[in-house]
Amino acid sequence: MNTEVLVVGAGPVGLTLAIALGQRGVACVLIEKKAAPEFLPKMERCNARTMEIFRRMGLADRIRAAGLDRLVPMDVYVALAMNEPPLLHLPYPSVAEAQAQIAACTDGSMPREPYQLISQYTLEPLLKSVAEQLPCVTVRYGHEFVSLSQDVGEVTAVVRDASGRTLDVRAQYVVGCDGGSSPVRKQLGIQVRGEGNLLRLYQGLYYAPDLFDRIPIGNGPGRGRHYHIADDRATFLIMQDSTKHWTLHATVDQPAQMAAQFERTIGVPIRFDILSVGEWKQNLLLADHYGAGRVFLAGDAVHLVIPTGGLGMNTGVADAIDLAWKLQATLRGWGGPNLLPSYEVERRQIGDRNVGASRYASIGRRAWRSQYRPDIRDATSQGQATRENLARVANVEQRKTNEMIGAELGYRYVGSPIVWDEPGGPEHLFRDYVPTTWPGARLPHVWVEEGCSVHDVIGDGYTLLKLGGTHADTSGLETAMRAGGAPFDTLTIDAARPRDVYGYDLILVRPDLHVVWRGHASPSDPVQLAAMATGHQNG
Ligand SMILES: Cc1cc2nc3c(=O)[nH]c(=O)nc-3n(C[C@H](O)[C@H](O)[C@H](O)COP(=O)(O)OP(=O)(O)OC[C@H]3O[C@@H](n4cnc5c(N)ncnc54)[C@H](O)[C@@H]3O)c2cc1C
Repeated sequence: MNTEVLVVGAGPVGLTLAIALGQRGVACVLIEKKAAPEFLPKMERCNARTMEIFRRMGLADRIRAAGLDRLVPMDVYVALAMNEPPLLHLPYPSVAEAQAQIAACTDGSMPREPYQLISQYTLEPLLKSVAEQLPCVTVRYGHEFVSLSQDVGEVTAVVRDASGRTLDVRAQYVVGCDGGSSPVRKQLGIQVRGEGNLLRLYQGLYYAPDLFDRIPIGNGPGRGRHYHIADDRATFLIMQDSTKHWTLHATVDQPAQMAAQFERTIGVPIRFDILSVGEWKQNLLLADHYGAGRVFLAGDAVHLVIPTGGLGMNTGVADAIDLAWKLQATLRGWGGPNLLPSYEVERRQIGDRNVGASRYASIGRRAWRSQYRPDIRDATSQGQATRENLARVANVEQRKTNEMIGAELGYRYVGSPIVWDEPGGPEHLFRDYVPTTWPGARLPHVWVEEGCSVHDVIGDGYTLLKLGGTHADTSGLETAMRAGGAPFDTLTIDAARPRDVYGYDLILVRPDLHVVWRGHASPSDPVQLAAMATGHQNG
């Protein structure tokens, strides 16, 4: 079998990459060792940046339709049980409320799309069905990557099908999206480093069809997304997208204890079935490299984070989007030799930062949990003091998990060979997002008119934004960009708001909406800028 790109692993990252390549007309084969997507819980929240990416891929509406109803609150609680008054309530907007906030926001500080709660076991089959409909994409479940060899022009992968037969897949590039134990990464001899096996928990998946309708139960917390139980077992309950399925995580000794743990958490008799119980480990690990030669790695294959902050799959989706257009550009000949190497430069620093963000959030989680004392339920002044103290600390520390908009939107590629270097730049913040067009940053979302964002009018290639009625003569840059065959458009936006927020008359944006260059006048050497932007010359 021959293809342009072989993608190994049909988790959310491999599926997103295959769709992005297919939409760009790149032939790819996606192999997955499992026979079919599994109904096992993992991630449940696509963050705002991921939803922006899915919007540009034309998938956001389908994902929202398959995910949690837009009116359901996303609140987070700390409680003793679901039928007791919460110790802490952190309100977060439903998708509908967040969409209304975004509609009213004109300063570039909010994303184009809010988050969406959708369980990974819902998202993967949805993405699979999209990939299967793309003519350029061949999807093969029940196919396991075994080994690979590469030379200067090609990679040959040995793949075993469900019957045990092996076949050779020859590809110009291979991308390992094969998860935390990544056989592709191991084949390349690339190490992951950091903190492994930090905590072992059991996760149960429960079908409890009446639970959501009965909330609040007695004086218990209201409807929300996460319920952290203030105990000594790190127990937390997560609503899944149907509102009828729930997951419970706890550091119990035996899987058999997960039924009683669920009952204790709910606090009242409720009808439920346990669909699965599995063990998982918390890790904070980053790979030394994001590939070697013609083989690249993305997603959990190169970064493993604790789900605090929800930066696992979400970081991987952004890896996939960074790589997809660079592979297209290189295969179609308009991308220069710096383009594919820039993938590791750009994405590894974000992997590193997001491992750090996840560590920061998980330390916060540990900080408030360390305030637990065995007297927390006592009707004594000491018990009251324990409850108040834990709630006070959690009100600071739990927010670190749930308020990560800086990590989600504010990441900026520093030192990239395909970004025009402006020395300095704003501080990288996990918690706050300050809109910026500093080269390397994601272009902030700003309305051109009601319901239409600058993001919505930018196409899939490079775009030169001409803002605020500028009369700059940009013909030199336009000619230079087109000369190499790169997809390129000039977009004139006269509306005042984008110019005000962006602060510049001219902005060159790449296919993934990251800023390459900005200025008030045409670049002094447009040929050099075009060569740098397309990977033919260092910035
Ligand atoms: C409890 C929990 C909650 C989480 N919550 C969130 C969240 O809210 N937000 C978030 O962003 N992330 C979250 N995550 C993390 C998220 O689930 C992972 O980051 C995500 O699954 C990574 O996607 P991936 O595609 O890189 O890897 P995976 O999902 O691991 O997919 C890799 C795929 O490769 C396949 N594969 C492996 N070896 C081979 C081979 N030899 N040949 C062929 N195929 C192979 C595997 O079968 C698998 O399907 C959570 C994780 C857990 C455990």
